[in-house]
Amino acid sequence: MSDAEEQSYALLNGERNFLFPTRNFYIPEIDINLQKVSSLKDLFHLKALTRVIRAPIVKNIVAARVINLRSLESLRNARRSLEFVCYKDQDSGMFTIDPQHSIRVDLSYEIRELKKDTYYLEHGEDYFIDYIGQFYNDFERHVLNGIEFLDSLHFNCFITDRDGTTNNYCGHYRSSIQPIYNAVFLSRFASLCTQNPIFITSAPLKDFGIVDVSVNPENVFIYAASKGREFLDYNGEEHRAFIDPSKQERLSLLVRKIGQLEHIPEFEKFFYIGSGFQIKFGQLTLARQDVFNSIAEDESQEVLNTVGAIVRELDPEGDIFRMNDTGRDIEVVLTVDGQNDRRDFDKGDGLKYIDSCLNLHLDKGPHLVCGDTSSDVPMLEAVLTFSDDVYAIFVTRDPDLAQRVRRLCPHTLIVPTPDILLSILGLSALTIKKKPARKAPGLFL
Ligand SMILES: [Mg+2]
Repeated sequence: MSDAEEQSYALLNGERNFLFPTRNFYIPEIDINLQKVSSLKDLFHLKALTRVIRAPIVKNIVAARVINLRSLESLRNARRSLEFVCYKDQDSGMFTIDPQHSIRVDLSYEIRELKKDTYYLEHGEDYFIDYIGQFYNDFERHVLNGIEFLDSLHFNCFITDRDGTTNNYCGHYRSSIQPIYNAVFLSRFASLCTQNPIFITSAPLKDFGIVDVSVNPENVFIYAASKGREFLDYNGEEHRAFIDPSKQERLSLLVRKIGQLEHIPEFEKFFYIGSGFQIKFGQLTLARQDVFNSIAEDESQEVLNTVGAIVRELDPEGDIFRMNDTGRDIEVVLTVDGQNDRRDFDKGDGLKYIDSCLNLHLDKGPHLVCGDTSSDVPMLEAVLTFSDDVYAIFVTRDPDLAQRVRRLCPHTLIVPTPDILLSILGLSALTIKKKPARKAPGLFL
């Protein structure tokens, strides 16, 4: 450890607390030591520990304080523990599910994001932008285009999806803890450039939901989950849309019946891979494949057929549930009454519900909508029914989706990866011309 490092370490631990009062400095209560990671349970535990380490670092960066070197070492140890599984123990690079079953895992997301975080903390933001720029073609061109596209505007609503949009895809949702650089860039943009920043995800809110994988400082974002059917406002108050009690009862029964599949050996793995089993408000998800195609197609089809049979048994008329199969996830969603028939609840319905509770003044733009799949398009359509002053940035390499978004919204920018979107947002915030007062207790102000 260099003299300078030792000094900042001492300062941060309160030994000279007349310079840095520790009561205002966020220090995590744990350290991460090197550890053996041999099961998904071990992985989720280790990644949850990185959240405990990362969240105070984000708070300290936001408050322009120095980084605790012990925290930096903890994140290095988390990364080393995972690298050991991947690179040094290839033959046994399998995670055990139980004594009889194991599964091969790809930890590249976890290792890559921990590497980026430690680089960001060690070298600072300017060097970090150069660092991530090397990973993507035309990075600089995309980022400069994006900054020009946003034109230093201040947005009323910033409505964004998370996974695949602002967060790189991770093989296991529970392990997708938000990186530090990601939280700093997003929170800075949200605080300086937007009045109402809102995440709308299809993941659950709590119990391994969006709140448990995020490290943004409190009071910056509204977290809406289950496609917006439930959300946490700036003050930490939870809101839930009305669901007919008889429908809710049928959904609870469905949750119980599908949950029982975990005790059947051939179905147990679906509770651990990819999205796993997510109980949401008004819907549920069970994974049937992950991004690495770890599951044999016939086994994946078998679980799809089994869930389909349970849904038909509980809803023979097809009135209560809509079942969507994305190829990776089976989603079962409670229907809502559409104009002519019943349809599933989408993120546009979610946005309208949030607006009904918080009065977002959707008729007053400009708004910015960000997404990465067709399930994010309803958010854009919903905003456009209130105002034409709407900007969209979609993270996609799918030309059909890009064309669909462009047709809907003339102010559209398409970018290829979440890191490019994050860099555009994080750097745009540095060019903001004016800072109107914000409803939420702002940071960076
Ligand atoms: Mg997404």
